[in-house]
Amino acid sequence: MAKSPPVFRFAPSPNGRLHLGHALSALTNAQLAAHLGGRLLLRIEDIDLTRCRPEFEQGIHEDLGWLGLRFAGEIRRQSEHFADYRAGLERLAGLGLIYPCFCSRREVKAAVRDRELETGEPWRRDPDGAPLYPGSCRDLSEEEGRRRMAAGEPYLLRLDMAQALARLGAELSYTVFDAEGGERLVAAEPERWGDVVLARRDTPTSYHLSVVIDDALQGVSHVVRGRDLEAATDIHVVLQRLLDLPTPLYHFHPLLADETGQKLAKSRQSRSLAELRAQGASADALRRQLGFT
Ligand code: GLU
Repeated sequence: MAKSPPVFRFAPSPNGRLHLGHALSALTNAQLAAHLGGRLLLRIEDIDLTRCRPEFEQGIHEDLGWLGLRFAGEIRRQSEHFADYRAGLERLAGLGLIYPCFCSRREVKAAVRDRELETGEPWRRDPDGAPLYPGSCRDLSEEEGRRRMAAGEPYLLRLDMAQALARLGAELSYTVFDAEGGERLVAAEPERWGDVVLARRDTPTSYHLSVVIDDALQGVSHVVRGRDLEAATDIHVVLQRLLDLPTPLYHFHPLLADETGQKLAKSRQSRSLAELRAQGASADALRRQLGFT
């Protein structure tokens, strides 16, 4: 049987205007897709209905069009597929791996501080620098969890990571590919994330859950993303194994830094592509600046 061509995707969130870092990510995707004879899809990651806005989505199309990027197939908007994510979550719940957590951020902080005082040691942090969830709600009875959810308390749904890993047994790994067709196996260390949040009362999914479900539903074989998402890939591999989804190949591109050495980010008001364009930048010059010919 002929091998099907690789499928890539660029998956921005319409919660602000795209900046140079997004351009780098989109162009790297396009370059690798062209190099490996693949198709490049566009996915709009808009599950956060409070922060995503139609004008930012419109901006994504303008900016990508300006960069000269064309996408294959239909555009998938995550906000139209909550049922798919719910089905995934229910499957994990059916495995007994999901529990409701009613802790506020303040309560988590206080619990962590108590443990630190008790042990005299700093509490473990996840790769993003947040303290690992100390598990205060992990052992609530099912009945109490149901009662508090029904009473309208805000909650998060967390993955019981230790149980999930015990269920999967063997060590987890995934494959990283490079532009020359080289591949190398990387060991995943998902335990460093602890009991990650997979949904909230007001957002019935999460980035982690929707991204693995969509990559599978869209037949994505090659994920190209920034190094800032390298560690999170460990969580994605766990979810793929639990949900019987294939694990794509991954490639992590370097991040661009601003003048102060900080990673470019919408939250730090990095200059947007729209602003650069308004100041007279040309798409050609920008592509060259980012190292694309
Ligand atoms: N939507 C994510 C972002 O804008 C990237 C998606 C991914 O590569 O998984 O950072």
